[in-house]
Amino acid sequence: MLNIVIFGAPGSGKGTQSDKLIEHYNLFHISTGDVLRDNIKRGTELGKIAKGFIDQGQLVPDELIIDILAQVLDENKANASDGVIFDGFPRTIPQAEALEQLLADRGTKIDAVVGLEVPEDELIKRILLRGQMSGRSDDNEETARKRLDTYHNQTSPLKAYYEQQGKYRAINGLGSIDDIFELIKDSLDSL
Ligand code: ADP
Repeated sequence: MLNIVIFGAPGSGKGTQSDKLIEHYNLFHISTGDVLRDNIKRGTELGKIAKGFIDQGQLVPDELIIDILAQVLDENKANASDGVIFDGFPRTIPQAEALEQLLADRGTKIDAVVGLEVPEDELIKRILLRGQMSGRSDDNEETARKRLDTYHNQTSPLKAYYEQQGKYRAINGLGSIDDIFELIKDSLDSL
């Protein structure tokens, strides 16, 4: 089993590198952002609540997102993957604590946290470029800046949290997609 958290600011390349990791290590992908966007598209009650937060650049409340994650983890029970990649979760210390408990209850744990480190001006550039292509309602400049503030205030403390556990792997997230992926593989292959 290889359970990984892919960690970084909005626009740091988590989704892109997740796709490569999933294929290479045969992992099951859990992206809380994708789950929320799917709910918004289907017009579910959860989607309606989530949209309000997402369009303000804020986080969806911990209780809600932790519930969703527990559900997705249980759906994955029958899955034939060699582990899970958590993308966009945890985003707060309480979420990280909940994840630890959820995994412990299932007899497993996080093995490594891959932290994609990208300078702020590059993040904004990438988010705006993605917005032109994806049409994501939160990929505009105003919301992007709020999301970065939210990241600094609520999510970035997780770096120290996972460093203390000896799990954090800093990866330079500037460069070509393939070069970054090589760096990630090198750091995971030493596990
Ligand atoms: P990105 O990391 O590029 O901003 P995501 O697709 O991971 O994009 O998330 C989009 C939005 O969904 C976030 O800005 C947030 O509002 C909400 N969201 C996703 N995951 C979580 C989470 N774990 N906790 C709270 N809110 C979340």
